[in-house]
Amino acid sequence: MTDELSFDAFAPVLNEALEMLGTEIGNQQKALTAATGYAPLPDILSALNAEHWIDNGGMRAEDFRGFFEVYLKHSVKLHHPLHAAHQVSVPDYPAALAAMANGLLNNPMAIYEMGPSAAALEFAVVNWMLRKVGWRPQPVRASEDDVGNHAAGVLTHGGSLANLTSFLAARARVAPEAWEQGTPDDLVVLVPPSSHYSVARAIAILGLGANAIVDLPADHFGVVQPERVPERIAEVEAGGKRCMALMANACATATGLHDPLRPLGEICAAHNIWYHVDGCHGASALLSPEKRHYLDGIELADSIVWDAHKMLQVPALCAAVLFRNAASFEMAFDQDASYLAYGRDVDSYDSLPRAIECTKSSMSFKLFMNLAWRGETGLGEFVSARYDAASRFYAMINETSDFYCPYEPETNILCFGFKGHEAQHELIRDQLVYDGKAHLTSAKVDGRVWLRVTIMNPATDDDALIQVLDAIRHAV
Ligand SMILES: *Cc1c(COP(=O)(O)O)cnc(C)c1O
Repeated sequence: MTDELSFDAFAPVLNEALEMLGTEIGNQQKALTAATGYAPLPDILSALNAEHWIDNGGMRAEDFRGFFEVYLKHSVKLHHPLHAAHQVSVPDYPAALAAMANGLLNNPMAIYEMGPSAAALEFAVVNWMLRKVGWRPQPVRASEDDVGNHAAGVLTHGGSLANLTSFLAARARVAPEAWEQGTPDDLVVLVPPSSHYSVARAIAILGLGANAIVDLPADHFGVVQPERVPERIAEVEAGGKRCMALMANACATATGLHDPLRPLGEICAAHNIWYHVDGCHGASALLSPEKRHYLDGIELADSIVWDAHKMLQVPALCAAVLFRNAASFEMAFDQDASYLAYGRDVDSYDSLPRAIECTKSSMSFKLFMNLAWRGETGLGEFVSARYDAASRFYAMINETSDFYCPYEPETNILCFGFKGHEAQHELIRDQLVYDGKAHLTSAKVDGRVWLRVTIMNPATDDDALIQVLDAIRHAV
């Protein structure tokens, strides 16, 4: 028998869950919990009593309390000062409130009528992003004259889908017939060797084949050397291939280093090659007057990917793919482009024709709430402060005799080495995670495995960074 739950009957459980969450977050911030939630899979399955609840149902308030305690214990400790691992935002409360409201309201707003507020907010936040890049936003009421004269974009469930969407539009430009006839076999994409794996996946998914990836010339750390790029383009063309797109990282996932965006944009313009900037992590520096210089030239891009669930403290997922030219975006999904802006109902805004997803969550509300609460200035200051924390970590490391950095950080991502223990970097990291002492990552750069921090957390102060180094020393 199933009894329908009323909101009022369930509200005490919601309130208690919220209280438990508050306690958990406070404890994480004060480092009263472990720094990780790690335990082996069989242990967690039995601690959660997962099979029992799945098979039998029947959970009640008092059961939930016990269950949720275990669930929280084995959740990632993003709010813990010694959590400095992946590029996952430590959510801020206004965005988290929106996520919770989304859970209750469920506005799958890719069709306007399925979430008019959410769709309107998506229109508004995408336009805000376009303006931050320096592009012309989408007009509320588009006229025929506007087509191609303004930029456009859409929120997607993650940067990986956003990268795929960008390459879809790039393919439509060089090979408009591909939508119906399939991908021609003479297309290649010029990609920094330091690119995120989603880029290779997108190219393979598009049917170019992973062999269509041509590495751009780069230094030891994978940063593209623009002066050597024209030669690479010439080689590609001499081999009878066409460049579908050229991509730059802002910034690269492993190192946090930026490719020189302006020179690469100028090369693409001169050769009429689609220019894609993967700004998943780093585009948020558009909001920081001190750090924006790393993105100089980003406005030359044809497409940009920008994750709000990385540096804008929005809980996953909330990514954007932005296009300098609205018409080239329309081409990505619709070869006769009959759905051009002037053709649509000007009183609504559907993102369905321009998105891979069909059911799409109200991501805009989350980003909007952080913006509305803190302002773009507040968000920009956060980005800048986290980048500065990595610079201080770099200085701190340089003062030790047992740690060193291969390069100076540009963002909040930094690789570093433990002298004499290089071969154990991965082992040390795993040990710290298993023991709940600190949460770091490791990354392969320049053929070697490094320890790596991504300082996403406002609670990670200098003292916490000193403790990270001590935890590593004690792990061997
Ligand atoms: C994180 C990241 C991605 C992947 O984005 P998701 O939102 O995790 O799908 C792609 N490119 C770069 C440079 C990234 O840092």
